Amino acid sequence: MSRLHLTKGARETNDPQLSVISANMPLRDKAEGTAAPLIPEKLTLDNLRRAAATCTACDLWKKGTQTVFGEGSPHASLMLIGEQPGDKEDLAGHPFVGPAGRLLDEALVAAGIDRREVYVTNVVKHFSWIPAERGKRRIHKKPRYSEIKACRPWLDAEIAVTRPQVIVCLGATAAQSLLGKEFSVMRDRAKFVPSELAPNVMATVHPSSILRASDDESRRAQKEMFIADLRVAAARVRKLRRAA
Ligand code: SF4
Repeated sequence: MSRLHLTKGARETNDPQLSVISANMPLRDKAEGTAAPLIPEKLTLDNLRRAAATCTACDLWKKGTQTVFGEGSPHASLMLIGEQPGDKEDLAGHPFVGPAGRLLDEALVAAGIDRREVYVTNVVKHFSWIPAERGKRRIHKKPRYSEIKACRPWLDAEIAVTRPQVIVCLGATAAQSLLGKEFSVMRDRAKFVPSELAPNVMATVHPSSILRASDDESRRAQKEMFIADLRVAAARVRKLRRAA
């Protein structure tokens, strides 16, 4: 199989509306209104990162400071997929480096996962925001369906290169765009669900939702649940390693 082609797992999604790239279609084939034509011929993370830096496939590039591409080991067994870069990530140019990223780092350590062995990315690579009513703050705005669709080829290409054994969707936006609109993170968190994306796919909350908890006690409880979810993913990675 040409490296231009995704594996079967990386090519499809449970949500037919988000099947931007259909089976047997090369990654670079034109999918109107998406980043697909920008996917480089030689699929490496460096090539993808370089190409994504100048992506204008949706209007979010006009708002964000820069493309925030995924980062981590090209051989990562575990891929974590969030929604989009936040304010800090947009300025730094790296995913999960703001407050939610710090919480994620702590949770990964507590779950026994080495972040250096993980690939972290988002379904959308530019920061979607609106100005605060007062002051200069930039307020997170959930990306539109059309923006998620436009950006999807970058994620598919990241999956095609890294071929993770386990994918964890962080939050409802990532989970519903990859696992279907009916997917409920609250109902199905930490359960492995059938998916063509990877052999083992599950979802949990986005760490930013824990930061929004109303009080310390609730925040602590939600963080413990998040760590427990990540332990499920870590256990699956270890089991797969033992079986390999
Ligand atoms: S959000 Fe994705 S598709 Fe839109 S401009 Fe940025 S990289 Fe391109």
